[in-house]
Amino acid sequence: MSIDAEKGEAQPKVDIEALAQKKPEETTFAELGVSPQLCEACEKMNFKHPTDIQKESIPWAIEGRDIIGLAQTGSGKTAAFAIPIIQRLWDNPQAFFACVLAPTRELAYQISETFESLGSLIGVRCAVIVGGMDMMSQSIALSKRPHIIVCTPGRLQDHLENTKGFSLKNLKYLVLDEADRLLDMDFGPKIDQILKVIPRERNTFLFSATMTTKVAKLQRASLRKPVKVEVATKYSTVKTLLQYYLFFPLKHKDCYMVYLMNEFAGNSTIIFTRTCHDTQKIAIMLRNLGFAAVPLHGQMPQAKRLGALNKFKAGSRNILVATDVASRGIDIPTVDVVINYDVPQSSKDYIHRVGRTARAGRSGKSVTFVTQYDVELIQRIEKDLERKLDLFPLEKDEVMMLQERVDEAQRIATLEMKEQEHSKKSKRGRKNDDDDDDDVDKEEQGLTLTKKKFKGGNKKRR
Ligand code: AMP
Repeated sequence: MSIDAEKGEAQPKVDIEALAQKKPEETTFAELGVSPQLCEACEKMNFKHPTDIQKESIPWAIEGRDIIGLAQTGSGKTAAFAIPIIQRLWDNPQAFFACVLAPTRELAYQISETFESLGSLIGVRCAVIVGGMDMMSQSIALSKRPHIIVCTPGRLQDHLENTKGFSLKNLKYLVLDEADRLLDMDFGPKIDQILKVIPRERNTFLFSATMTTKVAKLQRASLRKPVKVEVATKYSTVKTLLQYYLFFPLKHKDCYMVYLMNEFAGNSTIIFTRTCHDTQKIAIMLRNLGFAAVPLHGQMPQAKRLGALNKFKAGSRNILVATDVASRGIDIPTVDVVINYDVPQSSKDYIHRVGRTARAGRSGKSVTFVTQYDVELIQRIEKDLERKLDLFPLEKDEVMMLQERVDEAQRIATLEMKEQEHSKKSKRGRKNDDDDDDDVDKEEQGLTLTKKKFKGGNKKRR
């Protein structure tokens, strides 16, 4: 934990030195200077005490300072920026008070939910402005002049350029959540454009799991005497997370995965894969074997992505097969297990993926699959983590007994993927891809039908 704040600037009204002596579990939100209404909202959300990042940053943020928060995923950083913003909004209500930028659409929805829950007592109005959703309904939402907008950068830029009457010229707060990622990808130029059309006189909160050179650059460019609060080392994972690996030849990967799904039956599990194709295929394969699996990847229309996530969150599907689209920020407190079907490409990705479990003090397990081709990658990750992963205990013979069933399920999945591809091609042109939520249901029903058809077809062929 470290705080780095320039002297001579606004200081918190609360006694920072006395606070520093206290552990978070001995501290209350009121002691941080949080208003009674917001303390009540925190209580309603079962936030009994502030987390580390909240304890260290909220007193400064309430006082109007810019913040750079370096905190690991799951540390409570959304509330760390939402609480001071809502408090200042309460003092000075206005439309387009704050804009939060996030790198993924799912994260944007989640941030907006936190604002709505914390702001419910004072009627905070929020709009989510992300790609993949209808521009027109977003324009209508913007015309209702919400207090807070939570956006992905591309779509915000689009509205800034094309939606009549919409501007951020009175904006008071800009938040960049997962800033390392926002500046990493092709978002950079869009962020530059957005910075040009918002007031320089504003507060900026920059939250990131890691301080990259790009984050440092942005800090210099647009933050004013920020207070830097750091509660995470670069590659730290929480103590309640048990981290395992399994080493086997590539050809047995699916067999090990199915074995683990049997072992972890009843647990809520995310399986991370490298490609959209694998994600889809594994989800079909698992469903064919009777598991309640649902895919989530970037090639799915946004409504389907949200539908899949909601089903997993609600528990009606307990296995989410996902690409790294789901690895950042997504907060599903009940995830018990994370499987890295493919070894992540970097230590940072590893931290984000396994950070989907063991959140907010809970326990969790992660198992990373290592084949003959991944040894170097996993060694690099272990070096960054400064620890060795433990071997997941199992009997290899028991795994291999599943081989035949898994082979069959793989074969069916390949056929279904082909059928899906075929029907997508013939559907294209007739129907707009971006349907409503129950498209996922239709797709799933489609899968079941295909399965029956396949069985029948099989009989005929015999
Ligand atoms: P975040 O890092 O914002 O994704 O938050 C991770 C999880 O911690 C979310 O489920 C929050 O609801 C929860 N959380 C945030 N602040 C607190 C708190 N002070 N006490 C308990 N849980 C919290």
